[in-house]
Amino acid sequence: MHRSGAVMAWNVFKFCTALRGLGSIMILLVLGVVGVTYYAVVVTNYGPALYDGGLDSVTALGVLILFHGLLVMLLWSYFSVVLTDPGSVPPNWKPVMDEERGETDPLNGSDFGAMQTDPSNPRIRYCRKCNQLKPPRCHHCSVCGRCVLKMDHHCVWVVNCVGALNYKYFLLFLFYTFLETGLVTLSLLPHFIAFFSDGEIPGTPGTLATTFLAFVLNLAFALSVLGFLIMHISLVAANTTTIEAYEKKTTPKWRYDLGRKKNFEQVRMFCNMLPHSILFHLF
Ligand SMILES: [Zn+2]
Ligand SMILES: [Zn+2]
Repeated sequence: MHRSGAVMAWNVFKFCTALRGLGSIMILLVLGVVGVTYYAVVVTNYGPALYDGGLDSVTALGVLILFHGLLVMLLWSYFSVVLTDPGSVPPNWKPVMDEERGETDPLNGSDFGAMQTDPSNPRIRYCRKCNQLKPPRCHHCSVCGRCVLKMDHHCVWVVNCVGALNYKYFLLFLFYTFLETGLVTLSLLPHFIAFFSDGEIPGTPGTLATTFLAFVLNLAFALSVLGFLIMHISLVAANTTTIEAYEKKTTPKWRYDLGRKKNFEQVRMFCNMLPHSILFHLF
């Protein structure tokens, strides 16, 4: 029993180390997809089309302006999620008793240290790995090796946890990725269809292969990101996180639900707040 527990812990440890090691590779992969797409859209197809004259030039100019604008927003939101600390518990943090609400000091509870069982009463838990108190809605990430405030999930694409402080950027990243990959899919669609026509298509085998690859990659990203975007918008609308939805903690009356508009405002607000102020809202 002890042995299998140790083996499992070792496997989880190895898995998390592997995820950490994957870090810079994922960033290179994202930049690689952006590079292939840029080459296909700007260098191969719509850049040269600028000189075709007439409606083709106008269309190419429109596609290029939109493509570059969305690319700037996509890269800005991507690196904001990568580089922003998702929010950690301040050192030696202790909960302040809320006398107005008449709640008892959670530290006096008999089950202190145990897992939270009643979703309507967010007791303070204790993280054995960090050796510190764990505020409500806070979770320990085994990849980052620390507790994260209002943790949503650990995202391998951004090599970071998505939590209270960078969730806004994560939503924007999903939004701009969907718009950009959608635009690329639509603008490369005529070129993709041309592959299956009988006529001669201009271009070297290299540029044709890049256009084909960029179309397939962007279509796949557009569809999967759309799924994530819809999922996260419905999560925010109910003020829940992926972890909370997965653990089904949010029924029947979720104490953090402030109404749709305020739930979205809170995501924006948390991104500009210090962990101490965020903790005030998590009770
Ligand atoms: Zn922890
Ligand atoms: Zn993490």
